[in-house]
Amino acid sequence: MIKFFFPTICMALCFSNIFAQLPREVLENGVSEKLAKERAENIAQITYDLYFNIPEDKTEPINGRVQLEFDFKENKIPLVLDFNQDYHKINTVAVAGKSVYWRYENGHIIIPDSAFQLKKNIVQISFEAGDNALNRNDEYLYTLFVPDRASTAFPCFDQPDLKGRYNLSLKIPETWVAVANGRMLEKRFWDGKHHYIFNETKPISTYLFSFVAGKFSTINAYRNGRSITMYHRETDTAKVAANKKAIFDLHASALNWLEDYTAIPLPFEKFDFVLIPSFQYGGMEHVGAILYKSSSLMLDPSATQNQQLRRASLIAHETAHMWFGDLVTMQWFNDVWLKEVFANFMAAKMVNPNFPDLNHQLRFLLAHHPAAYSEDRTQGSHPIQQKLENLKDAGTLYGRIIYQKAPIVMNQLEKIIGEEALRKGLRVYLKNYAYRNATWDDLIKILEQASGKDLEEWSEAWVREAGMPHYRVEKNEANGRITSLKISQANKTKTGNHWQQQVKISSVNKEKQQVYPVMLNGDTTEIKEIIGDKKADFTLVNSDGTGYGYFNLDKDSRQYLAKHVWKISDALLRGNAWLALYEEMLQGTITHKQFMEMLLKAIPNENEPLNTQNILGYIEEVYWKYYTPKERLAMAEKLEKLLWKIMDAAPGQSAKAAYFKTYLKIAQTKEAITRLKLIWEGDLLMNDIVLSENDYTKIACEIALKNEAIAEEILQKQLANIKNPDRKAMLQFIMPALSTKQADRDLFFKSLKSETNRTHETWVLQALSYLHHPLRAKNSERYLMETLELLEEIQLTGDIFFPKRWLVTSFSGHQSKSAASIVIKFLEERPDYPYRLRNKILQAADPLFRASGVGG
Ligand SMILES: [Zn+2]
Repeated sequence: MIKFFFPTICMALCFSNIFAQLPREVLENGVSEKLAKERAENIAQITYDLYFNIPEDKTEPINGRVQLEFDFKENKIPLVLDFNQDYHKINTVAVAGKSVYWRYENGHIIIPDSAFQLKKNIVQISFEAGDNALNRNDEYLYTLFVPDRASTAFPCFDQPDLKGRYNLSLKIPETWVAVANGRMLEKRFWDGKHHYIFNETKPISTYLFSFVAGKFSTINAYRNGRSITMYHRETDTAKVAANKKAIFDLHASALNWLEDYTAIPLPFEKFDFVLIPSFQYGGMEHVGAILYKSSSLMLDPSATQNQQLRRASLIAHETAHMWFGDLVTMQWFNDVWLKEVFANFMAAKMVNPNFPDLNHQLRFLLAHHPAAYSEDRTQGSHPIQQKLENLKDAGTLYGRIIYQKAPIVMNQLEKIIGEEALRKGLRVYLKNYAYRNATWDDLIKILEQASGKDLEEWSEAWVREAGMPHYRVEKNEANGRITSLKISQANKTKTGNHWQQQVKISSVNKEKQQVYPVMLNGDTTEIKEIIGDKKADFTLVNSDGTGYGYFNLDKDSRQYLAKHVWKISDALLRGNAWLALYEEMLQGTITHKQFMEMLLKAIPNENEPLNTQNILGYIEEVYWKYYTPKERLAMAEKLEKLLWKIMDAAPGQSAKAAYFKTYLKIAQTKEAITRLKLIWEGDLLMNDIVLSENDYTKIACEIALKNEAIAEEILQKQLANIKNPDRKAMLQFIMPALSTKQADRDLFFKSLKSETNRTHETWVLQALSYLHHPLRAKNSERYLMETLELLEEIQLTGDIFFPKRWLVTSFSGHQSKSAASIVIKFLEERPDYPYRLRNKILQAADPLFRASGVGG
């Protein structure tokens, strides 16, 4: 759509050449790399003065004004601003107070260069804000602009390397409060409205600009001389009281740790956070006002140790972003992994002091490797650093390869160059690029200098190339002694590089565990030191879990571990052995039934909560994904009884809760469902476990799914029981997906085709998990083709994690050949389908392919 606008009709002069200097590719939809580069070279010193008038009614428009100041280094090209909205929403456009010619094309406002001068320029635009990224609810709204959504709300330069200072003022309803990046300077009340004025921010990227307004409770706390405010909507006062101290303490210790590690005090003037019900992500690192998913921080009394850890890690992750991402930002979103890797990497280092009793190496392993492998072992694998031609596709870059693989790789880098060199290098990096942008190459140069090591080949294989290494482990023994051990790289990177990495090999027999550190680099590495050692019960490569890849188990080790894995006394070694056995199951050298037998033998004997959690996860997955419905029914009673028995005997609420959560998910027999109903009705109390409103809702949903006769009644009662309005709204939304009537479920699925019904992404995902539950898989297969057909639209309208989650949840309950064939057919019929979305489909469908034996 191209539209021309004139300040007055009589000025309709010949304008054909006014915009002539602009190459066409600059003006495609979204922000092309070319446009971004051109603007970054020409524009500097950006300040936004923004005003939004927010009405109480979420259907009424939000009107806004922006005054944008900037320097033009050379004003030889027209000014291109991004406003990804209907052009009717632009009211007036002026430069230095005077109306100007302007044009609208493909989401850009274009003003000819003749309107500008060198150095300081001022553009004023009044507009109606687009709602897409404002997350408007009945009682609150919050912005979420990452990666390129700021331009859906207001005209701006929507690219990470054009940082600006923001002066924000908001007009909001009388009963609302507001919080933003900057400190509140002034709050006035007139005309029945609050008027907030916030202090000017330091230079920040558009995706980090944010404000929240609505009915929120606030809690203020002081930690280390700093005032921190938490905004929340939790109505359960006991829950708030039980959580608040830990939430503030975790933030404070994360801040301390980061100030110490980076040698830079918190680089922004204040530090608040907002707990959003049903937030799309765990958290988002907006400068001075982090947003969190409320349930990730406000834990139920039944929270497991793993959930407590996840909370600590999440807080550490978002806090680390104030330095890694907010202070120094990637130049372009192809390097988005860089901010995520450091946030995760630092988080892993930080949570340690808060959990002194924890096996941190095991925790790192279980938090990263399984998730990273789940994408990297698929046909949809991609490099950590990906190409990005246009910012509108930036959302498709996110995934587990960025969040989980990259920290493992960074750990390896730290081992290669040393902790001190990494810390020194990062301090230089943060100092040199403060309030600016940097690339991975900029950082690698600094690290090479700090360590004196050449890192180019390493970086090429691990960061710029796709896939995970596969190693063939060959062991020979004779006369009770090891005669050789060779590890060969079975696959190569695209350019023939080797994945260099340091791993540890454990050779274990009844007498002792012998550990050998080995540098893998080259086609085959022979471990000479091991020759002559006594025959091992098992040999495990990557036994400390710091390495990365598929290391097959030799036959003897596999057979030994299948029988004895649960007897390994070292928890980390045991955890690693489980990862290796799981890969063997996926590779087909162990059947799913054999694997389940091992799990059931192990679970009563496992005493490390992290391993317990992992084993419980395997049980759920194998049970629902790999067992046929008939096989499931045959073993349901045995599994239920075993879990109930272990739960009963488990010490403490956290341990019990972990078993109960799995029990709830796998419960299928009449006896188990009756028991759940008694618990839900309060007639059966479980030792030590205090159930929250959330827990009761989950129990009601599982019962509804598994006992159709009482489904409607139990859901209605649960709905009436819920006191919190946000949680009530969520159950209301997902209830049709749980309906016993196919027609209701069809209608529900149909409703998801409308964008407005997908605004609460967490609700949608929860509903999809029930809609596609394995027990209903046969009847929900009919939604799969349309689910795939909707993906491109989902990517455009949804937030960054939604496309993959949409797919994963939709495929979650399916295991049939026909379901897998739908995916394959979809891809075959679309050879030109966007390749990053194709990757998402291949990643998400991988378990389905493996379970069905089709397409893998
Ligand atoms: Zn992050």
